[in-house]
Amino acid sequence: SIGLLLTYSLNIIKQLFSLMGRFSGLSKMLISVERCENFTKIVQEKYPTLITDKDLPKYPSYNGKETTFISNGKINFNDYSVKYRPNTPIVLKNLNFEIKPKEKVGVVGRTGSGKSTLCLSLFRLLEPTSGNIFIDGINISEIGLELLRKNLTIIPQEPILIEGSLRTNIDPTNCYTDTEIIEILSEVGLDEFFVNKNLDYHIEDNGINLSIGEKQLICIARAFLKKTKIILMDEATANIDYKTESFLQNSINQGMKECTVITIAHRIKTIINYDKIIVLKNGEIVEIDSPKNLLIKKGLFYQLYK
Ligand code: ATP
Ligand code: MG
Repeated sequence: SIGLLLTYSLNIIKQLFSLMGRFSGLSKMLISVERCENFTKIVQEKYPTLITDKDLPKYPSYNGKETTFISNGKINFNDYSVKYRPNTPIVLKNLNFEIKPKEKVGVVGRTGSGKSTLCLSLFRLLEPTSGNIFIDGINISEIGLELLRKNLTIIPQEPILIEGSLRTNIDPTNCYTDTEIIEILSEVGLDEFFVNKNLDYHIEDNGINLSIGEKQLICIARAFLKKTKIILMDEATANIDYKTESFLQNSINQGMKECTVITIAHRIKTIINYDKIIVLKNGEIVEIDSPKNLLIKKGLFYQLYK
């Protein structure tokens, strides 16, 4: 009897192992269901296109290839407030200002003052809590996202490159000729880099075979090529040496003369020649004027400058 008992007991252990195995297999598979359920709860972006989009005015774009709803790039922030999530504090508070057509505007402020958030708001990555943004009198909340984003260019804080040739990275939609691209490369000061490479030069995923400065220059070349009427730069020149940077600032002044440019800069030198400076503090505008007037006023900008 004891022998029989032992044999059966040992068998139960085997059964228990298999039970545990099946149980964990089941919970592993149910994770997919759980994930799908979570995806259904993500708040969706607003519509990419609206029927009313086609009624918007159409102006020729600077590259002469498309049309755009932006006539000359005037931007108005009207009592604009925004927060990241319903339960987080307001990040930009009641902003009221105007950026004139073709103006070069610098945004400065301490870390966390809301500079990058200002850029995200223009692209409607964040929808306003209250207030509106108008581009040439058109409320950007009332147009399709695709149309809005197609007509703005951002050169982000972090340069983004995809795996592929130099050409696909500069002209992802394949709309421009080789000559146009090579011209842009020399405009941003990449001609030296380009001497022993050609447009088919292979760029690894995320551009790991390039220096950070080169990556930024390629991103800037991409923006130059598209030439939308409004361009945003988020510390885009942070990793470029002084000489290249001043060269680039010259190109920006030349090549983007017709564009409205908003630059977020940590180095005051980058923006000291701009038309207007916005000084942000805790999501509020504390100063807005030409750099010259702000320096005379000896306020926060003067302190940053010093
Ligand atoms: P930096 O100079 O460091 O780039 P910044 O001025 O660009 O700073 P923002 O990134 O605009 O600062 O951040 C402004 C405020 O918004 C900060 O207080 C930050 O904590 C908050 N914030 C930024 N991103 C998020 C997010 N994804 N979710 C919630 N709060 C955020
Ligand atoms: Mg930032």
